[in-house]
Amino acid sequence: MINVTKTFLPPLEEYSKFIQRAWDNEWLTNRGELVLELEEKLKAYLGVSNIIVTNNGTIPLQIALKLLGNQGEIITTPFSYVATTASIVWENCTPVFVDIDPEYLTIDEKKIEAGITAKTTAILATHVFGNPCNVVAIESIAKKHHLKVIYDAAHGFGVKFNNKSIFDYGDVSTCSFHATKLFHTGEGGAILTNNQDLHHKLYYSHNFGHNGPLKFHGLGINGKMSELQAAMGLSVFPYIHKIVSERKKIVDYYNANLNLKKIQTLKIRPNSRWNYSYYPVIFDTEQQLLKVQKVLNEHNIFPRRYFYPSLNTIEYTKGVEMPISESIASRIVCLPLYVDLQLKTLEKIVLLINNNLC
Ligand SMILES: *Cc1c(COP(=O)(O)O)cnc(C)c1O
Repeated sequence: MINVTKTFLPPLEEYSKFIQRAWDNEWLTNRGELVLELEEKLKAYLGVSNIIVTNNGTIPLQIALKLLGNQGEIITTPFSYVATTASIVWENCTPVFVDIDPEYLTIDEKKIEAGITAKTTAILATHVFGNPCNVVAIESIAKKHHLKVIYDAAHGFGVKFNNKSIFDYGDVSTCSFHATKLFHTGEGGAILTNNQDLHHKLYYSHNFGHNGPLKFHGLGINGKMSELQAAMGLSVFPYIHKIVSERKKIVDYYNANLNLKKIQTLKIRPNSRWNYSYYPVIFDTEQQLLKVQKVLNEHNIFPRRYFYPSLNTIEYTKGVEMPISESIASRIVCLPLYVDLQLKTLEKIVLLINNNLC
């Protein structure tokens, strides 16, 4: 069965070497040496000054919204994974959707100001499929209206914009290291800021608010990554260049061979170094998508409808219309993209798609 992605697994002996250290230390969590080592390696690779690794990629969104959202209105995108919107509602904030750019698929910065009210506290936008938001425009809107900026950078591992890590933009960025993501720790994630004061707050918030064993800085939750997760991350880490370059080859193949006169692909924002994390294709109509999906499924190939449905249509959000996001969500599918995807499978995928565009 060919799925949209396949988890990258390092050789088991390499994972075992790190697990052995957890055994030797008899230490499985509470920021042991494997977590600290992973954080140092990630800081150097990503070129960031701070990183806190976490138990998943959703808790960082909740912590950021707890600290910066103030139970207010959050300007956000309807085109993302459900965790983005769910975290806003979970933290007793109100999502205010702003439609997306039809080519970059990120929040349309030109429409943000129309959504701002006296209750707006922050903007939470997603670097969709690793494609950077218009971070420059968003920063100037946020400054003008005294808003905080949180980026859901779950797909942003290794992405740069203007030669700087994408995680360096906004007040806080979050990332996911879920098994389906480009870099993974099984389950896991990270929260990043370049503001030292905020880093301190994020840090204690992810560890129950602790200030030493007996005192507390403030409210907190358990967002800690375990040593077992860090062991997976440390054994995947040496392969990150291979993971990105193998994916680039597949993306290049799709770009060169799909009939791009009839299907739209992701337009990458200029001045970005992208990470080849997803290969979305957008058909003219949903019927077209369903037809191609059916044919691929018959050949045991299962692309995923990322992201469907548009988040403004789910039951616990308000139900305002977002025509562009709803339209794209009904017509978009992500094609298989992972290390080890065989050329003959790729040829088959491309042929089945090109032959079924009418
Ligand atoms: C994967 C993902 C998340 C959630 O990350 P988890 O590690 O699964 O909790 C959040 N936002 C987006 C856009 C994602 O794709």
